[in-house]
Parts: sequence; structure tokens; C-alpha cells
Amino acid sequence: MPSHGRLAIVGIGPGSPAQLTGRAREVLEQAAYVIGNDTYLAQLGPLLEGKKVITSSMGKEVERARRSIELAREAPVVMVSGGDAGIYGMAGIVLEILERDGVDLPWEVVPGITASQAAASILGSPLSGDFATLSLSDLLTPLEVIERRLHAAFSMGVPVVLYNPRSRGRPHNFALAMEIAGEYRSPATPVGIVRNAYRDGEEAVITTLGEISGVEGKVDMHTTVIVGGEETRIWRNGEDVRGIITPRGYHRKYLY
Ligand code: SAH
Repeated sequence: MPSHGRLAIVGIGPGSPAQLTGRAREVLEQAAYVIGNDTYLAQLGPLLEGKKVITSSMGKEVERARRSIELAREAPVVMVSGGDAGIYGMAGIVLEILERDGVDLPWEVVPGITASQAAASILGSPLSGDFATLSLSDLLTPLEVIERRLHAAFSMGVPVVLYNPRSRGRPHNFALAMEIAGEYRSPATPVGIVRNAYRDGEEAVITTLGEISGVEGKVDMHTTVIVGGEETRIWRNGEDVRGIITPRGYHRKYLY
């Protein structure tokens, strides 16, 4: 009998099932096993009905990847990853293990809406053109490397998105990032902070680099931070803050 074994590493978006792609939904429907960490599985609710669900905790990614490969030898397996599966997600480690072990298995990476897109959409249009993305987590990347990349990213003058911005154990990484940002940007530079985008408890704050210390407490591991680029501005209507805009450059070419 032919094996039905296959493995899909599926990005499920930032939270709400409304942000799940059609392909993600389809692949989930066809799965016998769904494996992932509890937070992400909880987002799927009724989509898990009738599936064998395997939960695994944060920090056990390598073990989870191995388990998904074992199960996928015989049955259709979905490995769930938050946001996009290939951006600080599970796709990398799963494919690394398939490559190293020489496992010949049909696999698919299903893209999802990543946190930078989710956060940007809530703030307005802060990432209209080029931008850079960095993670401030030093669990897998040494702090010296993160520091070097922060200088490189902010020196480009484009908006910078920070993932994993501030953990309880390492709050200083965020302070360091803001200090480096200040070497390249004026205190008036817009900063958008989005916590729990498209999830319960969603909250967005628009502030400036000069005033960031007042809202630093809002920044944690459920938050994505966007520091504006050289042309980024806060859209105001009188006292009212409407959003963050980075002009794409149409004003240099057209009258509107
Ligand atoms: N693969 C995920 C990122 C995982 S790293 C993706 O593509 O989005 C985890 C970090 O992503 C968090 O620390 C936070 O910075 C960001 N993040 C993930 N989901 C988020 C959400 N719903 N709202 C705000 N930030 C989020």
C-alpha cells in the first residue's frame, strides 16, 4: 500500500482564524495529526476537531520537529507555526533535519501572515517600501551579532521591525536597540508598538523614539515594534493620532 505520509509546515497567521490563508485551512482539513505549541493550537479551535493533536511546549522545537517527521512517514501531518512558518518559525529547523537525515518525504511550507505585516496593517502603512527586520532574542543569535545588525539596519534609514523585542529575562536588549536607533534617528521618529495583533487583548500605541521610555513597559514578547525610517511620519488630525505613514515616493513623481 502506498504511504500517505507527508508533512506540511503551516504558518497560521497572527491569531484570528480570519487571518488564516485558504491553503492553510485546506491542508489542516486534510491532516491526520496536528502538532504545535499550545498557544498556536489554541488559535485553531474547531479546525482541530477529529484530529490527533500533539502539543509541545516552547523551547522544545527540535524535539517537535523530529516528532513531526517521524509521524509524517505514515500519515499527513501538519506542523503549526505562528505567523509565517519560514520567518522565525518552524520551517527552517524541520527542513534542516530532513536535509541532514536524508529523509525522502513530500513536504510543503504554507506561508502565513507574519507579525510585521499584521502589526503594520494595524498602524496604517509604516512599511510602504524597503524595510529591515530583526529579532532581539539572543537565544539562538549571540548578542554581539544582534548589536552589529542593529547598527547596520538603522544606518540604512529605512523602517526597522523588531520581533521578540523584550523578554522578562533580557529587558536590556530592547533598551539597547532603542539606544542604537537614537544614534541614527531623530527623537521625533515615529514608533509603533502592537501587542497581540489580531488576538484577544489587541493593543496599539503610537509614540516617538524620544518618548519611548514612557511606554517601554508595554513592550513584551507578544509585541512587535516598528521604528520609523527617515521619511516616516505620524498622521494626525488635530490632536487625534490616526496612524503611521511611510510615503512610498509618489510625491516625488506626481501631484496629488
Ligand atoms: N513566525 C512568527 C514569528 C515568531 S517569533 C511570525 O511570522 O509572525 C515571535 C515574535 O513574533 C513575538 O515575540 C512578537 O514579536 C511577534 N508576534 C507574533 N505574533 C504576534 C502578534 N499576534 N502580535 C504582535 N506580535 C506578534
